[in-house]
Amino acid sequence: MQTILLPICLLFAWATIALLFWSGWNTLRQGITTLKRLHRIPCDRCVFFTGDYRLKCTVRPIEALTEDAIDCRDFEPAPSYSSRRANRSCTACPKSCKSKAKKELVSS
Ligand code: SF4
Repeated sequence: MQTILLPICLLFAWATIALLFWSGWNTLRQGITTLKRLHRIPCDRCVFFTGDYRLKCTVRPIEALTEDAIDCRDFEPAPSYSSRRANRSCTACPKSCKSKAKKELVSS
């Protein structure tokens, strides 16, 4: 009896471990897919986004910051966002790397 029970228990244990890994992998894949979809919401880069939770968007207040806002036809890139991105400098040290690069350009 024990010679039959041992392989069955081993098989059951390995099947449980395999199921655990498969479930974890599926959860990870779904999470990544959801994150990619949510990152497509453009509202935080839009000129009509207010940043106020009472009225998030002046054009489409219901759709703002939801998945319905993906590919929003009223999206208008905020100029401050692009300039903020362009002027963003490293904050790892007290000296700005951009100003250091400018000084090097002026001195040469
Ligand atoms: S206009 Fe569209 S993209 Fe812009 S904030 Fe409103 S819902 Fe978001």
